[in-house]
Amino acid sequence: MTGDTRPSQAEAEAAVRTLIRWAGDDPTREGLLDTPGRVARSYAELFAGYAEDPRDYLERTFEEVGGYDELVVLSDIRVISFCEHHMLPVVGVAHVGYLPTNRVVGISKLARVVQGFSRRLQIQEKLTAEIAEAIQDVLKPQGVGVVIEAEHSCMTLRGVKSPGANLTTSRMMGALRDDARTREEFLALTRQRK
Ligand SMILES: [Zn+2]
Repeated sequence: MTGDTRPSQAEAEAAVRTLIRWAGDDPTREGLLDTPGRVARSYAELFAGYAEDPRDYLERTFEEVGGYDELVVLSDIRVISFCEHHMLPVVGVAHVGYLPTNRVVGISKLARVVQGFSRRLQIQEKLTAEIAEAIQDVLKPQGVGVVIEAEHSCMTLRGVKSPGANLTTSRMMGALRDDARTREEFLALTRQRK
């Protein structure tokens, strides 16, 4: 995504050493010597979403659905993201549902889509919309709904320190937005999980 401006591993490690010094510690002491390397590698994993187009996961579909035309809902998909304002973890769950037209996607692929958009610097509202729009655009179901409930470390660990506070966002499209009964059915299925 950043193309040729992407820094080298060595540059990333130097930046981590700067942040260690900014925190007040000494990056040359023994316990911290390998830390910049580990942080750079963990960033590669935590932000792997930039290297993929999550829409690709939705390309392979199954059309033999035996006439199934009810909601498909995958609940409690783990969300691990980072807020783009503080680069602190956003941890929660996503519930994803869609009303198929004539094809369905492998359920693990829905989790991959959530993961692909999560592993970036995000705001939860945009993350929710991106997941819903990808499913609507590629799978072209009659409707799609995405609900995300997540705890923002930038709010629970610092600032107003409000532990346990969850932010809930939702994006409904097509029949899940326009048909009250379908929307209610989806929301009831997500609430059951509690
Ligand atoms: Zn934040």
